[in-house]
Amino acid sequence: MLISLVVPCYNEEAALPILYDALKEVRSSVPEHVFEFIFVNDGSRDKTSEVIKGFACEDPGVKYVIFSRNFGKEAAMYAGLEKAKGDYIAILDADMQDPPSLIPQMIKDLDSGEWDIVAARRVTRKGEPKIRSFFARKFYRIINRMCDVEIADGARDFRLMRKSVVDAILSVSERQRFSKGIFAWVGFRTKWIEHENVERAAGETKWSFWSLFRYAIDGIVSFTTAPLRISIYLGMGFACLGFAYLLYYFIRAIVLQIYNTVPGYPSLLSFILFIGGLILMCLGIIGEYIGKIYIESKRRPIYIASEESKDD
Ligand code: UDP
Ligand code: MG
Repeated sequence: MLISLVVPCYNEEAALPILYDALKEVRSSVPEHVFEFIFVNDGSRDKTSEVIKGFACEDPGVKYVIFSRNFGKEAAMYAGLEKAKGDYIAILDADMQDPPSLIPQMIKDLDSGEWDIVAARRVTRKGEPKIRSFFARKFYRIINRMCDVEIADGARDFRLMRKSVVDAILSVSERQRFSKGIFAWVGFRTKWIEHENVERAAGETKWSFWSLFRYAIDGIVSFTTAPLRISIYLGMGFACLGFAYLLYYFIRAIVLQIYNTVPGYPSLLSFILFIGGLILMCLGIIGEYIGKIYIESKRRPIYIASEESKDD
């Protein structure tokens, strides 16, 4: 059986040799299967391309796709999955945070016929900045409450899948991909295996706080239209509040005969500011969706490859 291991790489020259050694070890520990390693260089600015081509020179089991620029991990995973020919296909990070040593067990699980996907989940976020863990947890809470599909907290992109699952993932051809959501959306029988958080072997993470924040917004916006509903509720709520406020002043003027208009200035200003802010927020939410429609409607390719290893 052929097993494809897909590795998205962005500035990973330091980590790749360590990963490659680990992958070779996996390959020799499961001699009954044939392996192909697919490295996708996502427009790295360091020597990642040279390192990958170096592997490919001496090892016919190494395939690669080189992007013309950085298209993001989602695009890199898509390209790797498209190139993969295996009966079982895995995605794993280049930095050893997805322990390759789990792969033999994952293969056994798929062999048993009981599962279509074996996916890894971190049980701890040890070694990760506290603030990042906090926001990550909140994000999963919110997205799971709003969306129809369940996205597991701590789920990584690390998973071994049958070819049929990969075909289903590739058939979801939207340009702005949020893979965690797409994996959940396509379904199939998934076995979760848990592991401790592993720190990066070398190099550094590509995620800053703001890029994660954008990723979170993208994730929510691509899987649910619930935020649009929030703006309706908010609008309704504030319209009722405004009406109640008006009623209160009428009653005060007619029943209690109090006419002091000028002192109302600060409350009026604060209301205008508040409602103005709310309207801007709702417009922003709507804008997010319209932006998505705009980008999807251009139907651009998900990535552009400048170079690829020959298929045999
Ligand atoms: N990655 C990529 N393109 C990008 C950013 C990251 O292909 O634009 C790859 C990166 O090389 C690594 C994986 O995605 O193999 C996960 O990235 P990273 O380790 O920086 O993320 P973290 O583990 O901190 O979430
Ligand atoms: Mg990492």
